[in-house]
Amino acid sequence: MSKKLLPFTKNQIEKIIKKYPTPFHLYDEKAIRENARDFKNAFAWNEGFKEFFAVKAAPNPYLMKILHKEDFGADCSSLAELIMAQKTGITGKEIMFSSNDTPVEEFLLAKKLKANINLDDISHIDYLEKCAGLPSLICFRYNPGSLKKGNFIIGHPEEAKYGFTREQLFEGYKICKEKGVKRFGIHTMVASNELDAHYFAETAEILFKLIVEISQKLKIKFEFVNIGGGVGIPYQPEQKRIDLKAMSRGIKKKYEQIIVANGLAPIKLFTECGRYITGPYGYLISRILHIKNTYKKFAGLDACMANLMRPALYGAYHHITVMGKERKPHNFVYDVTGSLCENNDKFAIDRALPKLESGDIVVIHDAGAHGFAMGFNYNGKLRSAELLLRENGEVVQIRRAETVKDYLTTLDFDGLNKFKV
Ligand SMILES: *Cc1c(COP(=O)(O)O)cnc(C)c1O
Repeated sequence: MSKKLLPFTKNQIEKIIKKYPTPFHLYDEKAIRENARDFKNAFAWNEGFKEFFAVKAAPNPYLMKILHKEDFGADCSSLAELIMAQKTGITGKEIMFSSNDTPVEEFLLAKKLKANINLDDISHIDYLEKCAGLPSLICFRYNPGSLKKGNFIIGHPEEAKYGFTREQLFEGYKICKEKGVKRFGIHTMVASNELDAHYFAETAEILFKLIVEISQKLKIKFEFVNIGGGVGIPYQPEQKRIDLKAMSRGIKKKYEQIIVANGLAPIKLFTECGRYITGPYGYLISRILHIKNTYKKFAGLDACMANLMRPALYGAYHHITVMGKERKPHNFVYDVTGSLCENNDKFAIDRALPKLESGDIVVIHDAGAHGFAMGFNYNGKLRSAELLLRENGEVVQIRRAETVKDYLTTLDFDGLNKFKV
């Protein structure tokens, strides 16, 4: 069972709140670094192993800089993410550009930065060639279709918009080889928030077998295999962490049986995890504004689904700790809500919690990936600040909170005054 511990005390968080009002996201640098090292070490058997942090999970350059220091690259899928990588000093082969439905500008910048370009569709070969020219190294995203089952968040591969079919892969590599591309990679991502270590060994096996077939048929050499992200975290206290060592061992065994045995080693193993890297080490800190008793009991926070959408979007569980009331009996049942005019703006439904009062500090766990990142402005709600708890206990604001001025900045009120109706 994973214990839902906090890297700060009630006193510490109250001090932080004096300087930075709630709501905000707080990331734990020490835990992020330790986890990053464990992750890297788990795959040390593979020379050239690299994790490209999926920027979309926590798009903050400060976090990217910390992870870069731990030897991670960046997995980008938009212009803004590429620019953030560039500004963080992550360029060239330390970027994996795994986009889909990609516009010209993104290919142009990815090419300029000499990123590893991972194409999502066979038609993009032509598109990329025309807009930016083909790079010397090309990677394709494989969609195994009915050969592999997906999971709840990502859906079934046949239904997914991503990737090449098996036939298209052979065709695509052949086209690129004929056009003079000499260096190749392969990628897939078919799981999201997957906690079964075996699942990833299976995914690797599919890719390794494909590599053997494609290399033999087309006489090309693969430099890397990117098994994507999707490594899960235990959101619920009773769930277990994924067994990373078992996952790595499983992949290694397949690598030896398939890649080494066919004389194709060495091939670099790449991952592009987001959630596993920062998810458990980010917290959404909020205060209770109102307690409301109608047909149910509601605890209304000063945060809302604009700060963390996963519960509303996926019905996802996020553990909640009420500061100072950890050991009180959890014998009241609440819906914990935000202020958005959407009834699904709830962080928890029918959650057993201690007796709550307005002013209580509520910590929502596992908000460090796909949390702040999914923020939006519907209903005029503003994105919160992001803070970093450093290893020495210092707190650094790594992104300020949005203001109403930010929200209104794209509107022209002078124009409005002149606008006759
Ligand atoms: C979202 C995404 C990731 C990261 O997924 P996690 O679940 O955060 O590990 C990696 N690669 C691609 C292509 C993605 O779309």
